[in-house]
Amino acid sequence: MKVLFLDIDGVLNSTRSCIANKGYPHDFSPEGMPMFDSIAVSLIRGLCARGGVSVVVSSAWRITHHWDAIGRALELPTMDRTPSLLGVRGDEIAHWLEAHPEVTQYAIVDDDADMLPEQFPFFVKTDGHEGLSYANFAQLCSLFGVNQYDCAPNRMRIASGVKLVWEDIDLLEGDAA
Ligand SMILES: [Mg+2]
Repeated sequence: MKVLFLDIDGVLNSTRSCIANKGYPHDFSPEGMPMFDSIAVSLIRGLCARGGVSVVVSSAWRITHHWDAIGRALELPTMDRTPSLLGVRGDEIAHWLEAHPEVTQYAIVDDDADMLPEQFPFFVKTDGHEGLSYANFAQLCSLFGVNQYDCAPNRMRIASGVKLVWEDIDLLEGDAA
């Protein structure tokens, strides 16, 4: 089982999205939903779908919202949340991992770095002003052995395995006919 420990504030929203979307989300209401960074959410969604990765909510949102409700609202495959302990977030993640020996691969994404030393090779730190960047996404893909371009929809054809071709393939083929 592959698991992503997901923080929300500073990852799926940011100073950047707050200014652009006129506020930070506090819930999944019709007012709150547009305040998430929809690109960041979509990138995580693509990684999970392509890599067969499940989400464990490590964000403080797990205290005010059930992990299942978080998954349903953001369309992410959440399966659990980390426990609330007195230590740092890394302790909560370590505690969850100890209880789940079936985990074969994991990664952590968070804008805070309160992780344990042994977790740092699997940790992707975002900048809370920016939220999840493309570089952060690519790093997560690499940790899970997922080709980042495979997360793109079919219409984006990959040239040379390196570069995306942005033309709509169907349209081009239609033109040629
Ligand atoms: Mg955070």
